[in-house]
Amino acid sequence: MESLNEKVHWADVVAGELAKRSDEHVVACGITPSGPIHIGNMREVLTADLVYRALVDAGTKARLIYIADTFDPLRRRYPFLDESYDEHIGKPLSRIPCPCGGHTSYAEHFLEPFLSSLDRLDVHPEVLRAHELYERGVYDDAIIRALQRRDEIAHILEEVSARRLSSEWSPFSVLCPVCGRLNSTRVLGYEGGRVLFACECGEQGEVDIRGGGKLTWRVDWAARWSIFKITCEPFGKDHAAAGGSYDTGVRISREIYGYEPPYPVVYEWIQLRGTPMSSSKGVAVTIEDMLDVVPPEVLRYLIARIRPEKHIEFDPSRSLLQLIDEFEALDTNSRVYQLSRTRHGMSVSIPFRHMVTVVQTAQSERQVLDVLKRSGYAVEDEHEVLALAHNARVWVQRYAPEEFRFTLAPTLPEAAHSLSEEQKRALALLAESMKGPMSAEEIHAEVYAVAERVGIKASKVFQAIYMAFLGRRSGPRAGWFLFSLDRNFVLTRLREASA
Ligand SMILES: [Zn+2]
Ligand SMILES: [Zn+2]
Repeated sequence: MESLNEKVHWADVVAGELAKRSDEHVVACGITPSGPIHIGNMREVLTADLVYRALVDAGTKARLIYIADTFDPLRRRYPFLDESYDEHIGKPLSRIPCPCGGHTSYAEHFLEPFLSSLDRLDVHPEVLRAHELYERGVYDDAIIRALQRRDEIAHILEEVSARRLSSEWSPFSVLCPVCGRLNSTRVLGYEGGRVLFACECGEQGEVDIRGGGKLTWRVDWAARWSIFKITCEPFGKDHAAAGGSYDTGVRISREIYGYEPPYPVVYEWIQLRGTPMSSSKGVAVTIEDMLDVVPPEVLRYLIARIRPEKHIEFDPSRSLLQLIDEFEALDTNSRVYQLSRTRHGMSVSIPFRHMVTVVQTAQSERQVLDVLKRSGYAVEDEHEVLALAHNARVWVQRYAPEEFRFTLAPTLPEAAHSLSEEQKRALALLAESMKGPMSAEEIHAEVYAVAERVGIKASKVFQAIYMAFLGRRSGPRAGWFLFSLDRNFVLTRLREASA
C-alpha cells in the first residue's frame, strides 16, 4: 500500500500545514441526516478526526465540531420512505416525523445510530444541530449581513459558478409558518430583523430572522466558517469542483464575512463494489452495519491508510478480509496504527480468519472461548473476544464468499462414501497420529506426511477431510479446523470415513 511506505502520515502533513497558519484550530465536518448515514459518509468524519488527532498529538490546541444539517429540507421522497413522506418534501428534517416513531424527528432517527457509531469509532466531536443554531440566534448577524449584501453575494455566485440567478433570488430561505416548507417561499424584502415573504401555499407575511428560515447552502457554509472560526474542513470532491461550493464559499467568506476560509481537505468517494455509495439510492451499507462485522479500529484503518484524495474501493466480502489481514499485520509502532486505534485498543490478538472457522464449528460462546484457549490464544478479555466472534459470525452470515462458509455435517456425509482406498488409508493414519496431543500446525503438517506415506497428493487428503466433515471438496485450513473440533469427535469421524 503506497500510503504505508510514506514516512509521514497524511494527517500529520495537514496538521503541519495548519500549524504554520495559526496555533489554535477548529476542525469541522458536517453531514445532512437525510437518510441512513453510510460508510461513504464516514470518510468525512474520520478524515476530520484524523487531522484533529494529528493536531492534538503535535501539541496544538484544537477542537473537533460536527454540524448536523438538521435544518435542511427533505429534497425528495427517497426509496426507503413510504408515500406518507410526499407531504413532507421541502420541510426541515428537524420538523418531519421519524420513520419508526421512536425518535423526536426524522433528523434524530438517522443521527442517533450515527452518533453512537462515532462513539464506538472513538470519534468525539462537539455535536451541533443546525436547527438549534438558527433558533438560538447563532446565525443572526450572518443572516443580516447576507440580506444587506444580497447583490454582492449574487454577483459572486454568478461569477464563480457561471449561473444566472433570478432577480427574486435571496440568500435566505423563509420557513413558511403555515405550510412548514422552506422550498416554496419567496423573499419580498426585509426590515430590521423581519423578512417579508410570500409562499406558494398562499400565505404572505413576515418572519423573524431567528428561526424563521435559513441561509441557502452556499451562503450557510461560508457563514459558519466565520461563526465557528473553522480553520480546517474536509469535504467531498463534488464541493471542490471548479465553480463549486468551496470556490464560492472562499469568496463569500473573504468578501462578505471578512474571514479567511478553512484549509480544505478534499476527499474522494468510497465505492461499494463499483457503485458510488449514496444514501438516497438505497445501496448504502451503514456504519452500524459495518461495525457489526469489523472492529472499529479496522474501519478507522480503512480511512487512515490511504490519502483522502484517493479513491477507496470497498467490498465487504473478500476485500474486507484482506483489509483485516493487513491491519493485523501492522507494526503497532507505526503511525497509521496509532491513528487507527481506539481508546480501548484491540486487545484481541486472534486472527479474524481463524475466528471465522471457530464460530462455524463452536456450538456456543463457551465453546468459542474453550477452543481458542486450547489453540493457545490468550483470552484475557472474554467480552472483547466474544465481540470479535460476533463480528466473524455476522460476516459469515452477510458477506462471506461461499468458500468461507461451511456447516459441520452431524453424521458422515453421503459424499464420503466415494473416497478412494488411498484417501481412506490416509484418514486412518491421520486418526492414528491424532490420538496423541497435537497443535493445529502439527495436524496440518501431518496431513502432508500421511499423503506421502500412502503415495497420493496432499490435496487429495485435504479433499478427503472436507468430504468427511463438511460433505464437500473444499473448506477452511484443515489443521486449524480439525484442531478447533472436539478431538473424540474428530477421531470417530476419521475412522468412520476410512472404514
Ligand atoms: Zn425513528
Ligand atoms: Zn406556505
